[in-house]
Amino acid sequence: MRFALVNSVRCETSPGLIGCCPGCSQPMIAKCGIHRVWHWAHRGKRNCDPWWEPETPWHRAWKDQFPSEWQEVIRRDNAGEKHIADVRTENGLVIEFQHSHLPTPEMAAREAFHRNMVWVIDGTRLSRDRSRFLQARSSFRPTLMKSLFVVFWPKEGFPSTWLDCAAPVFFDFEGFGTANETSEKNRDLLWCLLPGRAEGYAVVAAVSRGMFLDAARKRAQIIPSQKIMEMVADDLRRERAATELNARRWAYAHPPPRKWRSRPFRRRSRY
Ligand SMILES: [Zn+2]
Repeated sequence: MRFALVNSVRCETSPGLIGCCPGCSQPMIAKCGIHRVWHWAHRGKRNCDPWWEPETPWHRAWKDQFPSEWQEVIRRDNAGEKHIADVRTENGLVIEFQHSHLPTPEMAAREAFHRNMVWVIDGTRLSRDRSRFLQARSSFRPTLMKSLFVVFWPKEGFPSTWLDCAAPVFFDFEGFGTANETSEKNRDLLWCLLPGRAEGYAVVAAVSRGMFLDAARKRAQIIPSQKIMEMVADDLRRERAATELNARRWAYAHPPPRKWRSRPFRRRSRY
């Protein structure tokens, strides 16, 4: 964890410091090595939140975009279950930054626990995830709304773990502060897989990092996913109806040539 209590004050680590966990009040040791980001660890192996994952520089770069009092917020439900939200904004939105793979039951449990939440997934962890995505990107179908796409085969572009979430999933395929040859604009984009399906199809929104952060800081919702899904479903239904109507009109205007029409077979007279 990034913060522990030292003399009842939330502090970041520095070498030799001893603190206590704001969640369980157990002693915590400052880990200030060279291999991992500096962090606090519970003494021994145990961690009071089974959902906690070791942080990477990617986690920290994202969390740094928010005030420190929004980071590592301890939340308890009515049953007394307790978990630490990576970021919880003043509008009650929880943002979970996920670097490693997550088993589906845990993902669902976290969504049920935090309710108003979004996922941000580290798409730079496996290089094949990014290349797979870029390949699938060319088959995304634009919609009438800008930056919004219908995706027929989401399995081809996104890691399967994240295909059926109940919360919006933002994929960060570029990472923070990584020097990359891709254009500035592209590097800036997050790809959001919206929850649910519209007429059976997945819907993906391209959201700039700036817009994501702005919405996260100011609003209780980053993207109105339910409304968007309904609009896309409406458009798809309208489109299908129009296609069917056009096909019927075309058939009416272009009757088959007489010789193709069914008629009783008559042998041509020989004489
Ligand atoms: Zn603890």
